[in-house]
Amino acid sequence: MVADLCDSGWREVRVLPLGAWGLPGFGLWRRLAWVLLRRRFRYRAGCLCAGLVRARGYEEAPGRRTFMAAGDYPLLSAKQKYCQAFCTAEEIELAENIRRFVDREVMPYRHDLEGGWHRDEQLALSTLHRLYAKLVEQGLTRANLPKEYGGLGLGPVVRQMINEELSRADIGLATMVGKIHWVVSFMVAAKRDDLLREFAPRIVGGEAWTACVAITEPAGGANLEDPALEGRTIRTIARRDGDSYVIKGHKIWPGPAGAAERFRSEHLKGHLGYWTVATTDPTLGEEGIGIFYVPADAEGLSFSKPYEKMGFVWSDENVDIWYDNVRIPEKYRIDTQPGEGARIVRGYVIGLGRLAGAARLTGLSQAVLEIVLDYTKDRTIAGTPVRERSMFAGMIAEMFRAIEFSRQYYLSTTWMVSHPEIYGPPWSPQMLARFSAARSFAADTAEMVTNRAMELMGSYGYAYEFHVEKYMRDFKIVKMWLGGAQRDRLDIAQGLYGPFKWAGMDEWARAQGLLPKASG
Ligand SMILES: Cc1cc2nc3c(=O)[nH]c(=O)nc-3n(C[C@H](O)[C@H](O)[C@H](O)COP(=O)(O)OP(=O)(O)OC[C@H]3O[C@@H](n4cnc5c(N)ncnc54)[C@H](O)[C@@H]3O)c2cc1C
Repeated sequence: MVADLCDSGWREVRVLPLGAWGLPGFGLWRRLAWVLLRRRFRYRAGCLCAGLVRARGYEEAPGRRTFMAAGDYPLLSAKQKYCQAFCTAEEIELAENIRRFVDREVMPYRHDLEGGWHRDEQLALSTLHRLYAKLVEQGLTRANLPKEYGGLGLGPVVRQMINEELSRADIGLATMVGKIHWVVSFMVAAKRDDLLREFAPRIVGGEAWTACVAITEPAGGANLEDPALEGRTIRTIARRDGDSYVIKGHKIWPGPAGAAERFRSEHLKGHLGYWTVATTDPTLGEEGIGIFYVPADAEGLSFSKPYEKMGFVWSDENVDIWYDNVRIPEKYRIDTQPGEGARIVRGYVIGLGRLAGAARLTGLSQAVLEIVLDYTKDRTIAGTPVRERSMFAGMIAEMFRAIEFSRQYYLSTTWMVSHPEIYGPPWSPQMLARFSAARSFAADTAEMVTNRAMELMGSYGYAYEFHVEKYMRDFKIVKMWLGGAQRDRLDIAQGLYGPFKWAGMDEWARAQGLLPKASG
């Protein structure tokens, strides 16, 4: 049969092979399930209908398990949570539509995105590519491309709202979409109309492409993100040779990355390539920093196998990249003015990367809160729903409060970044402090929310089927990448009362030959 109901009353539907029945009226069954599930006394009947709904999708995703999130929480709706001080009613409606799309098209496949419990690579990649292609079809990857190149030209605030909505379902998938926005933002910042024209056909053409930004090196990722080190620790060198640059170096952890053929499938057209942070000469400090575009199939590129890791299992294939005298035309250096490379790295690569992380972490936290609200409504202690007992109500209220603050803060920071005439450019220490505050607060919130969710749900929170463990595995790296939690705090302090350097930094740089020896 159909639905195997949990004793706890949790609205989880286990799907058993039934797809071949070819039951009619998918929409009707879904609506009926929804209505019945909302009435607790009709719970079993609701699950039966829900089972039929899911069973209709069985052929597409064998063995898939999902649950019906029955909750309806006005404070968590797009209309209530997105403040109209920062965006328009139409933008809120767009976010609402994305939420509906995500609920329908992505939520049911969250387990499949990791290849199920057994991490089946084929299931994971086919699901990832298929869902990513759907997001491309919706226009999400061209959201920040200016209209004159065929993009949607959406403003930064609504883009972050969309980012949040996508991350409710899968923060890895949202990150994959964000990679395209990221690289477009560098080219827009550097006013590279020629490059935007070159890449636009692949971004707006309806086919799905992915992209990667390579920053981290074996000697330390956070060092490259430390403004006080001025890029002097970068060891990937781009040497000018006539009208080309020749790049030699080694990056670790960039993703999605790897052999070009790994990114070609029925749904994915290919990999756009690697926007690589390098220096022309480490002793030049910030003047040497540049962003160099390296095509995915450039001669001299080689890759390790994808790393095995805790989260982002397939949605971000992270590898070593070796650049063995990779030659690229001069035009593929994105920055064109002295010091512009360092400004783009600080403001757009690191700063806006952290801000996007804040929106994603907020979406992830909301998803976990929704699971907890649904679960603690039906789970009872001595006849009373868990969430109505004061101790638990207080915990849930604190989860909501932190999520709400994370959201309002990332929204106001995003609004500020759209007004550089008032708040300064994104690479200013003050804006970097705000980006870092947004990311670190949202990350601490996600940590608290996922931890509490498990405590409120007990073993069910710990179980694979309820997704909390996946959200808990995923949030952690968004807290740690792009310099991590400590770098965030130091950048907040730098914006507040900097600049200051680590004690002994100049002596160390001199000893390394990165600064000229002190005279006398
Ligand atoms: C899933 C995943 C995806 C990733 N994607 C990418 C990607 O697309 N591109 C890319 O380039 N990299 C990527 N990374 C790498 C990631 O950004 C780095 O790992 C991260 O910036 C930290 O660098 P590290 O691991 O070398 O840690 P280290 O630099 O060794 O630092 C360890 C910790 O010490 C602290 N620390 C060290 N030095 C400093 C300092 N100077 N100031 C303040 N604190 C410091 C930080 O808290 C840091 O977390 C990814 C990593 C993962 C796991």
